[in-house]
Amino acid sequence: MPSNLVKKSDAPETRTGRPFILDPLFRRVTELPGIGPRNGKLIEKLCGSDKILSLLWHRPVDLVDRRFAPKIKDAPPGHVATLTLKVEKHSPPPRRGLPYRVRASDESGAIDLVFFNAHRDYVEKQLPAGATVIVSGTVEHYQGRPQMTHPDAIGTEEDRDSIQIIEPVYPLTAGLTNRTLRKAIQSALDAAPDLPEWQDAAWKERQNTPGWADAIKTLHNPSGPAGLDPRHPARARLAYDELLAGQLALALVRHRNKRQKGRAFKGDGALRKKLLSALPFRLTGAQERSLKEIYEDMESPLRMLRLLQGDVGSGKTVVAALAMLNAVECGAQAALMAPTEILARQHAESLKPWLEAAGVSFCILTGRDKGKAREALLQQVADGSAQIVIGTHALFQEDVNFRDLGLAVIDEQHRFGVDQRLSLSAKGPGTDILVMTATPIPRTLTLTAYGDMDVSRLDEKPPGRQPVETKLISLDKLEALTDGMARQIESGARIYWVCPLVEESEVLDLAAAQERYEILQARFGARVALVHGRMKAEDKDTVMKNFASGALDILVATTVIEVGVNVPEATIMVVEHAERFGLAQLHQLRGRVGRGAARSYCFLLYSGPLTETAKERLSVMRETEDGFLIAEKDLELRGAGDILGTRQSGELSFRLADLTVHAALLAAARDDARLIIEKDPELKTSRGEALRTLLYLFERDQAIQYLRSG
Ligand code: ADP
Ligand code: MG
Repeated sequence: MPSNLVKKSDAPETRTGRPFILDPLFRRVTELPGIGPRNGKLIEKLCGSDKILSLLWHRPVDLVDRRFAPKIKDAPPGHVATLTLKVEKHSPPPRRGLPYRVRASDESGAIDLVFFNAHRDYVEKQLPAGATVIVSGTVEHYQGRPQMTHPDAIGTEEDRDSIQIIEPVYPLTAGLTNRTLRKAIQSALDAAPDLPEWQDAAWKERQNTPGWADAIKTLHNPSGPAGLDPRHPARARLAYDELLAGQLALALVRHRNKRQKGRAFKGDGALRKKLLSALPFRLTGAQERSLKEIYEDMESPLRMLRLLQGDVGSGKTVVAALAMLNAVECGAQAALMAPTEILARQHAESLKPWLEAAGVSFCILTGRDKGKAREALLQQVADGSAQIVIGTHALFQEDVNFRDLGLAVIDEQHRFGVDQRLSLSAKGPGTDILVMTATPIPRTLTLTAYGDMDVSRLDEKPPGRQPVETKLISLDKLEALTDGMARQIESGARIYWVCPLVEESEVLDLAAAQERYEILQARFGARVALVHGRMKAEDKDTVMKNFASGALDILVATTVIEVGVNVPEATIMVVEHAERFGLAQLHQLRGRVGRGAARSYCFLLYSGPLTETAKERLSVMRETEDGFLIAEKDLELRGAGDILGTRQSGELSFRLADLTVHAALLAAARDDARLIIEKDPELKTSRGEALRTLLYLFERDQAIQYLRSG
């Protein structure tokens, strides 16, 4: 079939299973009247997709009230007015740099409509001499006479109803006008179908919420400032829809996982006892509590899917070790996966004495092992002679076969998607999974990010930690800082120097780090090194080793990953352009120091002047070292998407929900999702059918496949 006969809606990205009723929303925006390829591209750039649906999610952020329609003489300067005018006379600019003027009038007086850099044809077409026009914009007085520069809207009497309104104002991108975007959105609304109601009838009645179609129309046609408030019933309804879709997707995955048989691991405790007696410390209360939760999960015949959340230094490693030994005591294998080569080796290093004390065999397997050596390692994994395997996440993706993998511990640096977690569990049918994260996430967000998992929190630090003294320093004071550092180095300090994140671009990051490295090297000589993400793993390791052994004094680094290591002798953390980092990131970075006995410092360098929010954010760092508190503050001061680092992964950014306002809705959505799954796990009732539509609407339909394959 010639390709031009293929209808756009038959394009390959159309997913099977999507209810037909949603088709109009999944067509391309260029199918809307008046939206050509150029505007189509701009809309795609602005809204993140070229689907009509994405226009509907694009919320107005402001309003212009164009209902005020006075006579010219009654239009106060500085106010928006919609005027009905007769076009009198065109005066093209007498010379370059001067504006094009159009004189127009009503019975009360005259006004000049002013255009800079205007095309004569365009102005003449818009404002034909002698015609009656409707013009809306801000009235000004210039040399005592009323004028309006670049009216926002020009039309004929027929256009009055679309001009003299409360006009929503949208976030825009260069080249796209609010008028064009608004028109596109209005056409998208016209195309929007009435969808079956997926909300609980009783709930809907109680809340007195509009239906979906009404809500989305109201969102884009606010009747006043209240229409922009996230608490407005229409917006709240849509936010709830979005949250419910997310929670339901997670609940479906969770339900499937729960139904999945796991294995009951209840070891005799012999190996764990050996490890515990080799520890030079006692477990904290939080560690004991988390272990109890983990053991209970492991003992149950259902598969464990648990998140262990704890700040840097809260002692997750020993908890992981004890959990792994529980599996080994039962004759199974356990694996510990780190996000990077360096971290995998670091884990191996810390675990080694403990595993040796317990008499357990282990091996390290990373992408770097090649050829014969690799084969030998794979053999140990396959025949079970390695009871514990420590490696990078690649362990899961590659062709690694375990004899009997009972527990997988995943040390997470970047958040996994729900899908990825599912694929991880494919390595062994009933493998228990424990995910460790050092990113303290506020409770409200834990639900969203990890709603499919149970959570244990290490909210208590091991005793004897030195507080890290944190200082905010302007970049102009750099000299004084480096002088101070020189003295510190003389008395044996080791320093991390983290360079700014530039626009998520690794190349620019690197340039900035390189420059700083050269400056520091000029002053401190060969005892400075640079480590960055583009280096070969071996070279990175060498640098890290030299820093750990004390052969280097200053380690300049580009990203968080490279400093995700344990060097207790490092006592100074410098973060350049700290204002560009998220609080969670800063907190993680700071956690790299203060691990030894010596007093530690964290210098947050900023280039001023800081905005109020930036100031407030950085002060939070100075005031507390509690990661959970910092995360809550961060949520208050930024958006949820920022905290979860989802800008890049795109997975968890909300379009309609704003968790700083809708946290209660999130909790309700979670309960609702649980109830739905309890009562109608296959989504087969009529509400269930409608809920499937909801999942497709928010593109959370990957969860539906688990209904089928379940
Ligand atoms: P995390 O992985 O959570 O960042 P680690 O597991 O690396 O933290 O622990 C940090 C340091 O604290 C390690 O040196 C570890 O041996 C030590 N540690 C862990 N638990 C305790 C405890 N209960 N008491 C004292 N020190 C502990
Ligand atoms: Mg750790």
